[in-house]
Order: sequence, then C-alpha cells, then structure tokens
Amino acid sequence: MTDYDIIIVGAGPAGLCAAIETGKEAKVLVLDRKQEIGCPKRCAEGLSLRWFKKMNLKPKKEWAVQEIKGAELYTPNGKSIKMKAKKAEGYVLERKIFEKELAIEAVKKGAKILMKNQVIGAEKKDNEIELIVEENKEKKKITCKIVIACDGVDSLTAKMLGLNTKLDLKETDSGYQYEMTGITGYDENLLHLFFGTDIAPRGYIWIFPKRKGTANVGIGIGAYEKETAKYYLDKWIKTQDGLKNGSIIEVNAGVIPVGGFLEKMQADNLLVAGDAGHMVDPIHGGGIGIAMEGGRLAGKHAIKAIKENKFSEKDLSEYTKEWYKLSGNDLKRRLKGRHLLEKLTNDDFNYLVDSINVEEALRIGNGTLTKKDKTILFTKKLITRPKLLKLMIEYARD
Ligand SMILES: Cc1cc2nc3c(=O)[nH]c(=O)nc-3n(C[C@H](O)[C@H](O)[C@H](O)COP(=O)(O)OP(=O)(O)OC[C@H]3O[C@@H](n4cnc5c(N)ncnc54)[C@H](O)[C@@H]3O)c2cc1C
Repeated sequence: MTDYDIIIVGAGPAGLCAAIETGKEAKVLVLDRKQEIGCPKRCAEGLSLRWFKKMNLKPKKEWAVQEIKGAELYTPNGKSIKMKAKKAEGYVLERKIFEKELAIEAVKKGAKILMKNQVIGAEKKDNEIELIVEENKEKKKITCKIVIACDGVDSLTAKMLGLNTKLDLKETDSGYQYEMTGITGYDENLLHLFFGTDIAPRGYIWIFPKRKGTANVGIGIGAYEKETAKYYLDKWIKTQDGLKNGSIIEVNAGVIPVGGFLEKMQADNLLVAGDAGHMVDPIHGGGIGIAMEGGRLAGKHAIKAIKENKFSEKDLSEYTKEWYKLSGNDLKRRLKGRHLLEKLTNDDFNYLVDSINVEEALRIGNGTLTKKDKTILFTKKLITRPKLLKLMIEYARD
C-alpha cells in the first residue's frame, strides 16, 4: 500500500489543475516548497479569453482584476499599431488570489495540499515512487503510485525520475519585471508590447495594466544576451515619461522556456506538465493557460493509469501523444515563427509592420499562411527586400 495514489509536485496552475482533475477519484497529495500559493508570482499575469473558455473558467472581479480588449504594438521606429475589440479579449489576473481559488477547489474535490514541503529526492522502488520531502529542515518519506511533476521551469523531480528535461539555452528567455504603481500614459484596456533589438534583444518589453495607475512592467530577452534583462528594463523605463517617476511595489524575475519541447513527457510512474515540461508559447512566453490544460490532461492520464494499474513509460505515452495533438503541434509551428522573428533587424520589423495587415501577421505567427498569403507576400510586398524575402521563403517552405 502506498501513502497516496498520486503526488503532484508544485502548486502552480499546472499542479492545481491536475489536483482538481484527480481529487475526486484518487487519494491525491500536492506538495509545494513555497510558503504561499501564487506568491511570488514570476509572471505578468495576462490570460486570454481563449483559455477561460477552454478551462471553463468564469472571470471573477477578485482575481480577474483588469479587463483587456486587445493590444498595442510599438515598432522600433516609434510607430504603434492598436488592435482594440469592443468586448474583453482576456484579463490581467491577481495570480495569488486566482491560484488560491484553484487550491480551494482542488481541496473541495478531495486533494490535500502541503506548503513549505520541498521534494529533495525521488526514487522508483518496485512499482511505486518514494519521495524524500523536507519540511522545516526535517526529512520524511512519502510513497505513491504515480507522480505528476508540475514543479515549474527549474523542475528537478522529473530529472530525478529519469526524464531528460534539460533546458536548451537557445530556447530560453530571461524575464524581469516590476509591478509599478503611480504610472500613467497608456490605455488600461490594452496590453502594450514594445519591440526593438536595442531595447529588448530577441524579445519585448510589456506593460500589462492591473487597475488604474498600476501595471506589471517587464521584459523578456534571450537568455544568452550580453546584458541582463534588468539592465535593459531599467534603461528603457528611464526613457518613459509616464513610468520613470512611478513606484515599484514588487520585483519578479524568472526563466521562461520558449521552445525546446520535450519529446517525452512521461517516464515509469511519472507524468510532467506545465513549465516543467516546457509547455509555453514560444512567441509571447505565456504559459498559464497551457500549464492548466497540461495539468488537467496529466490528471486524466494518471487516473486512467490507476484504474488500469499500468504505470510503465510505454503505458503512459498516450499522454505525450494527446498533448501534442491538443497543443504541442501548434506550439511547434509557433516556435518556427519565433525563429523567424528573431532573425529580423529593426528595419525589417518596421517594414513588415508597414506592409502586412494584422491577419497576415497572426497567420505568420501561427504558422498558418495560406497559398494566397504567400503569393501576395512574396511577389508584391517583400519583392523589394531580398533578405527579408529569403527569410520568409525559408520559413514558409519549412
Ligand atoms: C517574467 C515572466 C512573465 C510571465 N508572464 C506571463 C503572462 O503574462 N501570461 C502567461 O500566461 N504566462 C506568463 N509567464 C509564464 C507563466 O508564469 C508560467 O508558464 C506558469 O506559471 C507555469 O505554471 P506551472 O504550474 O507550470 O509552474 P509554476 O507556476 O512555476 O509553479 C511551479 C510550482 O512548483 C513549486 N516547486 C518547484 N520545485 C519544487 C520542489 N522541489 N518541491 C516542491 N515544490 C516545488 C514552486 O514553488 C511553484 O509553486 C511569465 C513568466 C515569467 C518568468
């Protein structure tokens, strides 16, 4: 007899959704090393309406604190493109309240949660897993039939259980962010994204509004850039009249796995979900919704494994297949889009923005350019920019 059927490591969006999915049908324990769920957030807290629909979530004013109707993109030459809908397209969350709600729901479903419990060892013994968990410097052993590793980008649990989750530095971004208040000069119903290789190499700066005069102001750049993400963000904020005199009420930093998807997200008695499985959108770095979906799917497969008493790597491989069908294959296409974007110079970027429309831009990002798009792009719009044309042809050919 094991102590639990399922142990979920990590009480972030992935782990909590796995717990909601499994709590009713199995004996489930969630462990997290932090002292408070959702805090610190390491996130700009934007979540699009698509994920509310997919996850059957109703926005509540307690945690869906800012309605977002679109985005404004700022090009290196100082122009901007505004895309504003009449209705909400998404929300900026207060993650610490949102995740506590998920935790309460998971416990109502039957799961148990323990905070300040860090998994420091994991070993497969016969057909079960033994975790070594540290709580207030004391160590204890807890056993289960299957582990769902939802322990974020610096996941060790999956590695300890034999899965290769090594991050490819080329597919990793560094994020740095201030939650600022007392700031002005931007439309609070839009996300604001600033591009340019000088201000944010291989990435962008964002303002994600959270109530009037308060916003998450952050940056994501390639992990191997010469200067740090903080350096670029501080430099840029000093140039912004509406921001430079604001106050910083929270500092967040984190690594974002923007590609390098895992071939296998399962090993014997193990499933991995969320950032731990690199389930993040490679273009904008968003991962809350994908983590929730991944956690829910991992939960479904964990329950199946328990019902069938089948825990081998091969038995669990349906999980990875289903995830790729559900989201992974789309994300792989978007990774190609990011690889294209990072080759663009500021000039190329300005030219593209001036010459293509929003729908074309979205189809480039999603990897869903039609034959007609390609003809117009190649023969009319990019014909005078041979280098850009070559890049785009290579991208479209793949
Ligand atoms: C700067 C920045 C901005 C971002 N902005 C956005 C955004 O606006 N929108 C969006 O959708 N995504 C955003 N993301 C990405 C998003 O934050 C993640 O994709 C999301 O949090 C992943 O959820 P998760 O549950 O997989 O992991 P996490 O939220 O990281 O949760 C992992 C949990 O595991 C726990 N843990 C780790 N190791 C152990 C251990 N050994 N034992 C016990 N517990 C452990 C951690 O304490 C943590 O609570 C951003 C990321 C960064 C860094």
